[in-house]
Amino acid sequence: MSTSSTSGMNPWRLWNRLPLWQKILAGMVIGIITGGIIGPDAIVLKPIGTIFVNAIKMLIVPLVFCSLIVGVTSMQDTGKMGRLGLKSIVFYLLTTAIAISIGLALGHFLAPGEGMNLIAKEQEAVKEAPSLVNTLVSIIPNNPVKAMATGNILQIIVFALALGISLNLIGDHGKPAIAIFTSLAEAMYKLTGLVMVFAPYGVFGLMAWVSGAYGMDVLLPLIKVIAAVYIGCLLHVYGFYGAVIALIGRLNPMRFFSGIVDAQAIAFTTSSSAGSLPVSLRCSQRLGASRGTSSFILPLGATINMDGTALYQGVTALFVAQAFGVPLTPGDYATIIATATLASIGTAGVPGAGLIMLTLVLTTVGLPMEGVALIAGIDRLLDMARTMVNVSGDLMVTTLVAKSEGELDTELYNGTRKFVETT
Ligand code: ASP
Repeated sequence: MSTSSTSGMNPWRLWNRLPLWQKILAGMVIGIITGGIIGPDAIVLKPIGTIFVNAIKMLIVPLVFCSLIVGVTSMQDTGKMGRLGLKSIVFYLLTTAIAISIGLALGHFLAPGEGMNLIAKEQEAVKEAPSLVNTLVSIIPNNPVKAMATGNILQIIVFALALGISLNLIGDHGKPAIAIFTSLAEAMYKLTGLVMVFAPYGVFGLMAWVSGAYGMDVLLPLIKVIAAVYIGCLLHVYGFYGAVIALIGRLNPMRFFSGIVDAQAIAFTTSSSAGSLPVSLRCSQRLGASRGTSSFILPLGATINMDGTALYQGVTALFVAQAFGVPLTPGDYATIIATATLASIGTAGVPGAGLIMLTLVLTTVGLPMEGVALIAGIDRLLDMARTMVNVSGDLMVTTLVAKSEGELDTELYNGTRKFVETT
């Protein structure tokens, strides 16, 4: 054995040479295998994942707050901002309604709950899922510091927007504060890059825990639901988003998909679109969307746009109806679409939030609450897929709106020019 070949094979060096997404993927695969071998004891590896998730969460509030202010203040033209916001919201809601329709269609044709013949016990008291009015009223923070302390992203967005607009309105007086927020936002972007270095190890810990906790035996009875949700998620992202990017955006979908893979991997493994926000911001800028546009539309999307969650609610609502033999009318289908679309606005971008909102959807069409318990056992697996869709949808809308506003650098998008980190 020659010395040169030994140093060339140094696994640590090889590992370090891999691009980040490949390391994350490797972390995921090795984690699954490790969890499969160790079983439930793999919970000892969970803290590695928790450290990573905490580090990402640490970024969210200051990053969203500072970058949103930078986004707003970089758009002196308030008319443009209103237009951007409106466009994004319309896109977000439309894609969500389509997602849930795909979910319902799959739930109908794959019929995952057929033949289960479960019998609902007494209908339990309805769990408190926030009503639509409450959701709307509570987005105005009565205390912005509390909103930050509790990580209420929607309230933080409202306050940051209002503060950004005010800074614009006071002209020169606003400049010192804008400079501070700009500098803080830069630092937060840098910190995101640093935290991401740890991602492959964190992802390893999370996946080992998930695969160790859900052995195949537990998964089998519900495997059809999992399959339906996963098929729907793949169709929605690679079929529907791909078509929209190509036909409406007139952009190469392949470049879009390769540009968002880091954010997808983080969303899939952390099950939190709010938690994936720092990485999504990075991806969208690498894809050429301007910083102003990305930092305005993405946090909004991470909070109100939940296509994956809506799709999952479509599949699971039908699953529960089939499992308990409850017939649904076309009107019920329409109600599910409307409720799940609206519920998605109030769903927090954190793990498990969609399951809570599922109670809202089930009660509106009179489906038994026991269905939630049935789903809860596999929810983490479904959460991973739906969060991946949620984040992909945010990035799709951001790319599209940026393109339509002339805020997309197509050279960056097409890879004819390299992205340069600002710091
Ligand atoms: N975990 C999802 C997200 O963060 C929300 C959900 O539970 O559906 O996007």
